[in-house]
Amino acid sequence: MSARIAIIGGGPAGAAAALYLARNGAACTLIEAGARAKAGECVPPEAAPLLARAGLIDPSTEGHRASAGVRVNWTGEETTHDYLTRPHGRGWNLDRLTFDEGLRARAEAAGAHVLKARFHGLAGVSPFRLVLSAEGEVLECAADAVLDASGRVSAFARRAGAKRLQHDRLIALHARHTGVVDDPRLLIERTEAGWWYSAGLKDALVVSFQTRDNLKAAPLPPPATRRRLQELSPASVTRYAAGSSRLDAIAGDGWLAIGDAAVAHDPLSGHGIAAALRSGFDGAAAMLAWLGGDRSALQTHATIRDAAWGAYVEGLAAHYAQPRL
Ligand SMILES: Cc1cc2nc3c(=O)[nH]c(=O)nc-3n(C[C@H](O)[C@H](O)[C@H](O)COP(=O)(O)OP(=O)(O)OC[C@H]3O[C@@H](n4cnc5c(N)ncnc54)[C@H](O)[C@@H]3O)c2cc1C
Repeated sequence: MSARIAIIGGGPAGAAAALYLARNGAACTLIEAGARAKAGECVPPEAAPLLARAGLIDPSTEGHRASAGVRVNWTGEETTHDYLTRPHGRGWNLDRLTFDEGLRARAEAAGAHVLKARFHGLAGVSPFRLVLSAEGEVLECAADAVLDASGRVSAFARRAGAKRLQHDRLIALHARHTGVVDDPRLLIERTEAGWWYSAGLKDALVVSFQTRDNLKAAPLPPPATRRRLQELSPASVTRYAAGSSRLDAIAGDGWLAIGDAAVAHDPLSGHGIAAALRSGFDGAAAMLAWLGGDRSALQTHATIRDAAWGAYVEGLAAHYAQPRL
């Protein structure tokens, strides 16, 4: 394959795509601006085959923490969900920057070209001429096809004319408190103003408050979250968009959006990372088929992704509609 494929964004979706393309002998450049912080840590046991496919068979070897289950207080009473009885037996609380770096390193080892640069715009199409900046320099990268894996900003797709459709305006106020908690399990607690999750990493507790109110600071956490925080140092809070959203068109002539760039889920669904990995592998396969002459491959991929949206939105609405005791 002599076509050059550019991937914009080196999170789970972009890195998985780069890994797939490199393993299949395709020439690809993975362009990552260099995120300094990220929210989104917990993967359920069912993500294990995807992690293994991405080269991470035992996440503990890279400093991620195993989790035995989830504690949930959504309706006013705490219930626990044990992972032990499920296939693969344990979930993982990932240190996200380390996780994303590890994925990119494996893509590079497989033959992908990894470039620390930011994508700014298009100087031309056919081939695509991407305008980038790296260390204060402006440079151009030519590509026959583009995978947009830039997360919720959909940096390429928006420039190609796609529009982001917001299903809701959930925001997250997210903090990483240094220190070690004995029980790392994901804890979810719902309050009138929103809902909280917290999860133990090897050296920190992440605590995140999700709300549709336009708050600048998080309110006092509910009791079980508060107890976890007692021994830990205070931390600065970062605000993230956390609502469900998608592009009105995830594919165009020679380009495809993957991961959150195409469809972003409410953190409550707990499958953003696994969905991004899957979308990276499947999107890269669709792009190779398209470059190989199958002109319906990108659209077929887009149709499959669209079909899942309706069921997702319905399930989410049913979850939020549950009354609190
Ligand atoms: C508060 C919160 C909590 C969450 N919790 C969970 C959870 O517990 N479990 C879970 O599975 N998911 C969770 N998620 C979702 C999960 O984090 C995302 O679904 C996942 O990161 C998507 O991966 P991605 O590769 O598509 O995008 P991202 O991880 O967003 O990666 C996009 C990459 O593109 C790069 N980029 C952006 N613009 C440019 C540009 N112009 N040029 C070059 N590079 C660029 C960025 O630096 C970034 O590294 C959560 C999300 C939020 C907001």
